[in-house]
Amino acid sequence: MKATGYVMKLDRAGRITLPKSLRRELEIGFLSCLEIFANEDTIVIEKYKQRCYLCNNIEKIKTYKGRHICQDCIEGITNRG
Ligand SMILES: [Zn+2]
Repeated sequence: MKATGYVMKLDRAGRITLPKSLRRELEIGFLSCLEIFANEDTIVIEKYKQRCYLCNNIEKIKTYKGRHICQDCIEGITNRG
């Protein structure tokens, strides 16, 4: 991760705007979903990716009953002794 050089001020509603040039560089389109991660003094915003709710894997994701689960976990569950 690199510093972008942008310093953004929250508006009265607690919003920030991602600069157009940054959105263009990162291919973040209108109405894109972004995911927010946080700890004590750090906030990271990532393009939203469906993740397996069991292991956080982002590859080979299937959706079952509104939950995302990866192929590895499906195989792990179905191959239980
Ligand atoms: Zn998984």
